[in-house]
Amino acid sequence: MALVGSAEERSKALVLFGPPGSGKGTQAKLLTQSLHVPHISTGDMLREHVRSGTPVGSKVRDILKAGQLVSDDLVNEIVEERIGRPDCSHGFILDGYPRTLSQAQILSGFLDSRNVCHLVVHLKVDPEKLVSRLTNRRQCPQCGTLYNVLLKPPIVSGRCDVEGARLIIRDDDKEHVIRQRFDAYERQTHPVLDYYRGNGKFFEVEASDASPDEIFSQIRKFISSNGAGHSAP
Ligand code: ADP
Repeated sequence: MALVGSAEERSKALVLFGPPGSGKGTQAKLLTQSLHVPHISTGDMLREHVRSGTPVGSKVRDILKAGQLVSDDLVNEIVEERIGRPDCSHGFILDGYPRTLSQAQILSGFLDSRNVCHLVVHLKVDPEKLVSRLTNRRQCPQCGTLYNVLLKPPIVSGRCDVEGARLIIRDDDKEHVIRQRFDAYERQTHPVLDYYRGNGKFFEVEASDASPDEIFSQIRKFISSNGAGHSAP
């Protein structure tokens, strides 16, 4: 399956939307493997800036640590540069962007001007499940694969199944920072849902109890029913 079915078809952007811990990163990884389009995670890009010590990294380090949102202008600029690259010409997956109404409006303008249509998937999760998902989350620092020590542990404790690297806990997966991230989600990000419900192709998937594979297969059906072909493997 691909995000563009034929030469005449418009390329598509898939926006994965949901609170911290809703499984956006997990679904994005599955989708990027299946659709062969880039996975663009603003969180990963910002963390990479921090790790590499770039000027953007020093601007955002404390904001990420505190679980707050970085400025719209900065994120918009990073995303615009990324999705303008040639590897995005057949479509791409956005994870963690847009996160404010202003980002959503900028993205719509950008995509409309390039004749890219967007599909939006909302991963809906019971709020009580989210804290436990985040506090038990571990990530491979090399390939980004996500684990959950209770629900999806690695084969060898503390090591990535793919890379063998020692798994890490994200700085912002500490309980007091998690609260701050939920607060930012409720105040700044949740209102974006109403914008999408009324604009374009929107799909809500109940993601509290279903397995990642079940959710993935529902998202694939939604993409197929919205015009993506079944070309590439
Ligand atoms: P999660 O969705 O689990 O909170 P992300 O990896 O998407 O995690 O984001 C981590 C942090 O990066 C956010 O808490 C925020 O500080 C910053 N960030 C990521 N995307 C955006 C965005 N679109 N706008 C503003 N800040 C962002």
